[in-house]
Amino acid sequence: MKIKLIAPACLLFSLLVPSCVSRAQDFDVRIYTQHPPAAVTVVATQAQNPIAWRTCPTCESGVDRNLSISAAQSSVTLASSLSGVQKPTSDLYLAGDYQIQPLAGAEAPPFTANFPLHIRAVDGQLVITVSMPIEKYVDAVLAAESGDFKQTESLKAMAVAIRTYALRFRGKHAAEGFDFCDTTHCQAMSLNAPAPRIVAAVDATRGQTLSYNGAPAETYYHQNCGGAIAAASEVWPANHPPYLAAHADPYCVAAGVLKWESTISVATIDAALRASGLSLPVHWTTLEVATRTPSGRAQRLKLTGGIPADVPLSASTFRFAVNRALGWNKIRSDLYEVRISGGQIVFSGRGSGHGVGLCQAGAEEMAREGKSYLEILNFYFPGTQLISARAENWQKQSSERIDLISTNPQADSAILPIAGRILAEDERAIGWQLAFRPQLQLFPTMDSYRDTTGEPGWIAASVRAHTIRLQPLIELQRKSIVESTLRHELFHLLVESHATTNTPLWFREGIVLYLSSPNAAPPKVSAMTDQRMESSLLHPTSRDDQEKAYAAAQNRVALLVQLSGKEAVLGWLSAGIPADVSAGAAQ
Ligand SMILES: [Zn+2]
Ligand SMILES: [Zn+2]
Repeated sequence: MKIKLIAPACLLFSLLVPSCVSRAQDFDVRIYTQHPPAAVTVVATQAQNPIAWRTCPTCESGVDRNLSISAAQSSVTLASSLSGVQKPTSDLYLAGDYQIQPLAGAEAPPFTANFPLHIRAVDGQLVITVSMPIEKYVDAVLAAESGDFKQTESLKAMAVAIRTYALRFRGKHAAEGFDFCDTTHCQAMSLNAPAPRIVAAVDATRGQTLSYNGAPAETYYHQNCGGAIAAASEVWPANHPPYLAAHADPYCVAAGVLKWESTISVATIDAALRASGLSLPVHWTTLEVATRTPSGRAQRLKLTGGIPADVPLSASTFRFAVNRALGWNKIRSDLYEVRISGGQIVFSGRGSGHGVGLCQAGAEEMAREGKSYLEILNFYFPGTQLISARAENWQKQSSERIDLISTNPQADSAILPIAGRILAEDERAIGWQLAFRPQLQLFPTMDSYRDTTGEPGWIAASVRAHTIRLQPLIELQRKSIVESTLRHELFHLLVESHATTNTPLWFREGIVLYLSSPNAAPPKVSAMTDQRMESSLLHPTSRDDQEKAYAAAQNRVALLVQLSGKEAVLGWLSAGIPADVSAGAAQ
C-alpha cells in the first residue's frame, strides 16, 4: 500500500516545481569523484520507504527497493527488479532512504543517506551528485577535514570556514552540472555518518559565516603553515584580499614545527619534470631557489649547470610535477631549503599545504590554549566579520479561509486547496465552524522546523495558537502524510477552540484521533490510566511511549463515544468531563 502512495506524492510535487528531487538552496555535491564507479547498487534502508526513481524531473516515477545502475559510455542503465524495467537513460533521479553500494572491488565505500540523487554517465563512469542542505554538507566536510582536531573551539572555527567557503565558491563545477566535488580540489567530504562532536560543532555555529565587504570571505585553510602564513597572492597571483596577507603563526610553532625532508636524485627529478611536459635544460646538475615569496616560500627555482645555462621554473609547477610522478607527500609545501649532496637534491621543509588562510595545526593549538573560535577566526582572517544567516524570507499567501506562510510560496501554495477541502470535511464531521482564519506555516527545511518548534523529526506538525506548524511539504509528501497531518491538526484547532484550559490533553488528543478515523478498529494497546496518558503525551520518554499513549487515548475516547454518544463527549470539552467518567478510568 505504502509503495503506491509514495510515487504519486512525488509526482504531484514534480508538477508544481521543475524538480521534485532537489531544492534551490541545497548544494549539489559530486560523490566518488576520485574513484567514480562504473556500476552501483542502490538499496532502500527503510522497510516502509522504497526508493522512487525517475528519468527526468517531471517524468512519472517508479519505485523499488533495490536498483542496479551502471554506466555505458554516456548513458545510464537502470535495472529495477520490482517493475521489471531495464532501460538506458541519460539522467536518473532517485529519492528515498538508501544506501549506495559501489560495485564489488571498487575503491569507493558505501554511502547511506536520504539526499536526492542525480546520476549521469561520462566515459563509462557514473557521475553521482547528491543535493545536500548546507549544514549537512558542513557536517560531511568537517568530518573529512579535521580528523586530528581534539578541541571544540578549533572544530567550530573550521565549521565556520567550511560553511563560508561553500557559500563563497558555490558553483565551482557549474560547467559540469554540480557545485562541488568531494576532493580537496573543492573540500574533501566524508561519506561516513559524522561523529557526534562534529555535529555538535556544526550545530553550535549554525548559519554563521565570515563576511568581508558584504560578501562571504575566501576562507581557505590548510594543514600546517610551518610558522609562516602565506598571502593569497603567493598562490593565486591575482588575488589580494587584505585578510589573506602573509604573517607569522606562533601557534603552530608552539605546538611543534612540522619538519620534513625528501632526498631525490637529479635524474629522478628530471624524469618527473619531463613527464609533465616541461622544457628543461640538457644535463642540468643543480637546483636553486631564485626568489622567495613574502612568507619565505620558494617562488622561482633555477636549474643550472646544463644547456642553456640557467632556466627558471615556478616552484608550484615544480612541486606539482614532482608530486604527480612521485607521490603527493614527496614535497609537502613550498617552504623549504635546498642542498645538493652527491648527485642528490635534499629538500628540508616545514609545514604542509599552501599556507593560505586558516592553519589547522595553529587553530588546534590556539583552542588548546583556551582561545575561542572567534579569536581563532580573527587571527587567521583579520578584518572579516562573523555574521549569522539572514533570516528566512517568510511570505504570506491566502485562500478563501486559510493563510499560508512559507519561504517558497510558488511550490508551497499547493497545500492551500487541500487544506481548504479538509477543513470543510472536518467541520462537517464535528458539527462546528472554525471562527477564525487558521494559518499554516510550512518550514523550508527539517533543520529550521526542528530549531523553531523544538519538535523531533517524527512529529509532522504542531499547533501553536491559530498556527499549524508543518514539516517541509516535500517531507510530508515523501511520507504520504499531507492529508492525514492536515486533518489531524485542523481537528485540533476545532477541538481547542471549544476546550477549556482544564480539559486534559489526552481527552483532546483522543477526540482528534477518534474524529480522524471514527470507524477504525481500536488499536491494540493496553489501557493506561488517565494520568499515565497525560504524562506520556506531555513529556514522552520515547517515540514508542508517545505512540502508545496516543493509541490509548484514541481507544478511551472511542469507548466514551460508544457509551455516551458523540454529542455528549464533544460537549465535555467545554463543560468538563463528568466525575463518574473520570472515576471510571483508573481501572
Ligand atoms: Zn572540485
Ligand atoms: Zn600555522
